[in-house]
Amino acid sequence: MSRHYDYLSIGAGSGGIASANRAAIRGAKAAVIEAKAVGGTCVNVGCVPKKVMWYGAHIAEAIKYSEAYGFSLDKKGFDWGTLVRNREAYIERIHGAYHRGFQGNGVDFIEGFARFVGPNAVEVNGERITADHITIAVGGRPQIPNIPGAEHGIDSDGFFALESQPKKAVVVGAGYIAVEIAGVLHALGTDTHLLVRQDRPLRNFDRDIIDTLTGLMERHGPQLHPFSEVKKVEKESNGQLTITTMNDETISDVDALIWAIGREPATDKIGLEHAGVHTDEQGYIRTDKYQNTNVEGIYAVGDITGEAQLTPVAIKAGRLLAERLFNSDMPDAHMDYRLIPTIVFSHPPIGTLGLTEVEAVETYGEEQVKVYKSGFAAMYNAITPYRELSNFKLVCVGEDEKVVGLHGIGEGMDEILQGFAVAIKMGATKADFDATVALHPTSAEEFVTMR
Ligand code: NDP
Repeated sequence: MSRHYDYLSIGAGSGGIASANRAAIRGAKAAVIEAKAVGGTCVNVGCVPKKVMWYGAHIAEAIKYSEAYGFSLDKKGFDWGTLVRNREAYIERIHGAYHRGFQGNGVDFIEGFARFVGPNAVEVNGERITADHITIAVGGRPQIPNIPGAEHGIDSDGFFALESQPKKAVVVGAGYIAVEIAGVLHALGTDTHLLVRQDRPLRNFDRDIIDTLTGLMERHGPQLHPFSEVKKVEKESNGQLTITTMNDETISDVDALIWAIGREPATDKIGLEHAGVHTDEQGYIRTDKYQNTNVEGIYAVGDITGEAQLTPVAIKAGRLLAERLFNSDMPDAHMDYRLIPTIVFSHPPIGTLGLTEVEAVETYGEEQVKVYKSGFAAMYNAITPYRELSNFKLVCVGEDEKVVGLHGIGEGMDEILQGFAVAIKMGATKADFDATVALHPTSAEEFVTMR
C-alpha cells in the first residue's frame, strides 16, 4: 500500500496541525501523522493542562483572599481528582475539535509512528507514504538528569499524570516549567520546594522582575532553594523520597520529585539519516528563515528547531510555511522571530517582550538606554494580608526612546502583554505610550503613566 500527498506533517502538535490545515485550505492534499494524542505537547502535557491547573491555583488564592472581601466560607477541602478529571475531559473536547477541523479542511489524520525511508517518503504502520513537501514537527520531550536515583522522580508529563495531590513535592529546575509547576503545587496546598542550581530561576529574564518573583517566594512560598543541585535521590521503605544536594542538604518525606531541567528534541528515532536531514549537536533541526532544512522539500517547525519553543511560534511558522508553499500571493511568507511576547504562569504571572535592561545596554550602550519602572501593590490583594508587589518595566533606546523591552510581574500581566506587543511591534516610543489615555483603575495603566 502507498499514498502520495502534496503536504505531509510528521507530528500533530501545534505546528504540524496548523501547517497541514493551512496547506489543505490552500488546496493541497494534506495529511498529518501522529503517534500519540492529537494536539502534541501543548494540548496534552503542556500549555492547556498547565493553564487549567493554574486557574485552579488562582481559585485557591481567591479563597485565601475572600475573607478580607467579607466572605465567610466553609472550606471542605480540595479534590485534586476532580480538577484532573475535568481538565482531561476538556482536553478530550479539544481533541474532538481538532478532528472536526481535519475533516472540515480535508486533512487526513494518520495514527502511528513515522520514520523516514527516503527524502520524500516515510513509513508508518508498514505503509509507505510519499509527499512533495514534508514538515518535521515532532517536538521534544523532558530531560531527566543522570544521577543516582533520578528514576524515582517524574517529569512534567508525570506531573500531569498524578492522580492524587502530593503532600510534599520537590521541583528541580529553573525554567518556565519548574516555576509554573512549583507555583501551582504550592498554591493548591502542597508543601513545595523549588531547587535551582544557581542563585535564581529564569536567569535570562529581566533581573528586576525575577527579584520580585523570588521576593514573593520568600514571603509567600514555594520555598526556593538557591544553589541547590541534586546529588542523589533515595527511595525509603514507605515509598517517600529523600533528596540530597551537592551541599549535603537533605529534603526527606518527599511524595513527588519533579524534574524540570529542560527538554530535548525528539529527533533520534525518526530515521533522519534516510532523508539526509542534519541536526545540530543537541539533535535540533536548524532551519533557515523559511523553515527549510538542508534537504529540499523537507521543513521543520516548532520545538524541534530549537527556536523560541512556544506554541504560537510553532503555529505561526507552520501557517506561514503552508502559505509560502501553496499560496502564490505569499511567496516570501516566513515567521519573524523578533519581538516574541511570552508569559510565565507564575504567581503572579510574568510577561516579557524584547530586550532586558542588560541586553539593551549590551546592544546599544549604556548612554542610549533609558529605563522606566513602576513598583506597586496590586489592588486585588492589597486589601488582604497577602499583598503582592507588582513590578513593571519599560526599556527604551535612543533619542526618541523607542520601546525595545517591556517586562512585568503582577496580577493580570498575562492578559496585559498582548496589546502592548502590538504597539511595540509597530515601533512605539515612550511618547506614544505617554500619549495613550490610561485605563483606571487597572495595573496595565502603569505602563502608560511611568515617569
Ligand atoms: P528551560 O530550558 O527553559 O529551563 C530549564 C532550566 O533548568 C535550565 O535553563 C537550567 O537553568 C536548569 N537546569 C538545567 N539542568 C539542570 C540540572 N541538571 N539541575 C538543575 N537545574 C538544571 O526548560 P523548561 O523545560 O522549563 O522549558 C522548555 C521550554 O518550553 C521553555 O524554554 C519555553 O520556551 C517553553 N515553555 C513555555 C511556557 C510558557 O510559554 N508559559 C511554559 C512551559 C514551557 P540554570 O542554568 O539557571 O540552572
